[in-house]
Amino acid sequence: KPSRTVIAMAGSGKNGTKDSISKLISDLNSAKLEPDVDVVVAPPFVYIDQVKNSITDRIEISAQNSWVGKGGAFTGEISVEQLKDLGCKWVILGHSERRHVIGEKDEFIGKKAAYALSEGLGVIACIGELLEEREAGKTFDVCFQQLKAYADAVPSWDNIVIAYEPVWAIGTGKVASPEQAQEVHVALRDWLKNNVSAEVASKTRIIYGGSVNGGNSSELAKKEDIDGFLVGGASLKGPEFATIVNSVT
Ligand code: PEP
Repeated sequence: KPSRTVIAMAGSGKNGTKDSISKLISDLNSAKLEPDVDVVVAPPFVYIDQVKNSITDRIEISAQNSWVGKGGAFTGEISVEQLKDLGCKWVILGHSERRHVIGEKDEFIGKKAAYALSEGLGVIACIGELLEEREAGKTFDVCFQQLKAYADAVPSWDNIVIAYEPVWAIGTGKVASPEQAQEVHVALRDWLKNNVSAEVASKTRIIYGGSVNGGNSSELAKKEDIDGFLVGGASLKGPEFATIVNSVT
């Protein structure tokens, strides 16, 4: 069975200040976290250094995006090399806001994943369908296509966590039911088995994201193929995030 992982996306374009981040870190540093769960915090770029300098080594750091290739003259972008310099171990790629607000395409996201992996960062590879795609019965098609773009680009799955985040569930309070999430997670695992390998299918962590909170995480975590969570809003509150971490074992 894959290990368990819970990721706090602690702040985005609208959430997070030096003060709120500092409170969150002190809550996480004093929280009792189950030892066999990998815990990662993904603050906005501008707070990564603050987090790295004050958070316990028990918790790893992720960025929320990275440049597609070697760092260079790409004003406003943040390179993988810079993230490593700050002590990041992970990067979140293909988040729905990168896809649907900024317009990043599957192939571009696949290239980002391949570059980050080649430099030794772990990749949290996000995928997920829009509400209209779900309603049109295209959930699996969309998720498989997004997954294939990663598969086509990466040489190995050793350092990848798949995050299934249905877009209609992100930041909406409309969490997927445990059955809805499990149905997609099993399908993704089958896709990996049929298109990559049985070993990758059984080892790769597939985590769920979209309105996870301290009240719904344990029911979701009971499902066989849900290996953890990517948490947005509820990760802004340290004690609630700790509850979510401790619900996945
Ligand atoms: C997200 O932003 O990826 C996310 C999962 O947010 P929330 O938990 O608030 O739905």
